Amino acid sequence: MAVLALAACSDSGGSTAPSTAPSAAPVTVATAATTVLPSTAVATTAAATTVATTTSTTSTSTPPAAATTTITTTTATTTTTTLPPTALPGVAGLDGDALQVAEIGRSVDGRPIRAVERGTRGGTPVLVIGVIHGDEQAGVAILEQLATLPVPPGIDLWLVESMNPDGQAVPQRGNAHGVDLNRNFPDGWGPIGAPGDGQYAGTGPASEPETQAIVNLVGLIRPALTIFYHQDLNRLSPSNGVEGQLKERYAALTGLPIERITGGTYTGVAATWIRKQTGSPSFIVELGPTLSREQADTHAAAVLDIATMAAAA
Ligand SMILES: [Zn+2]
Repeated sequence: MAVLALAACSDSGGSTAPSTAPSAAPVTVATAATTVLPSTAVATTAAATTVATTTSTTSTSTPPAAATTTITTTTATTTTTTLPPTALPGVAGLDGDALQVAEIGRSVDGRPIRAVERGTRGGTPVLVIGVIHGDEQAGVAILEQLATLPVPPGIDLWLVESMNPDGQAVPQRGNAHGVDLNRNFPDGWGPIGAPGDGQYAGTGPASEPETQAIVNLVGLIRPALTIFYHQDLNRLSPSNGVEGQLKERYAALTGLPIERITGGTYTGVAATWIRKQTGSPSFIVELGPTLSREQADTHAAAVLDIATMAAAA
């Protein structure tokens, strides 16, 4: 298990979740072939995403290559999401050669949260999220680069430029409810603070629609590597195993130091939840206060480099 002790942005996660989940509605999402947009129709064609609920408590996961992937989430804290059939307009600057641009959810204020898929469908899924804290937006420039660079063979690259568009618009750390989305995930969720506090954890695990959007996306694509961008501690925290190796490579390519961060109480952390769900590397990159265009290019190249490493691991 990765050893992480990150600061206010993130962390690792050791505590086990108090299971406060009354309505553990398992979510079954029909996907893959049924939701995929033909790459030639990304900008103009609406796609229907079908979501059905089930009472089954059996956890079933079929390989990504299957025509239909059924993922039944039994996590007590998972909230049923709504993914209505939605027109999927192309996103400026992000849809050049995308396999699809999918609206994976909406923010509290109704802003779309979109995922762009590039590369090799059915390949090793890699998820990159540019913004989770709305006032930490440097990752956007990296995502924009990742939207245009050639994707290495065998990588199924998923780009979420921002999972917190409301916070980004203000800008503020939390979403429109004042919830720190990086304390709202179902892993070890615990109450922190009150609305308006910097690390307010929300009313319950995955109480926020932005969190639900990512929870569901992760269930669908099962990323083999997930990266979140934050600011501005300018470091990677040390990890063990494959994740540690990926971080060392990323650090070598970008010049970010690997330094432990101590202090703080971390529950409901996104990267930790994803790591535990997938059993795969999932971590944050703390950028500095500013990021030049050149640095953004370097980070984007580093992502693709370690994506290939993760695929070979
Ligand atoms: Zn942060």
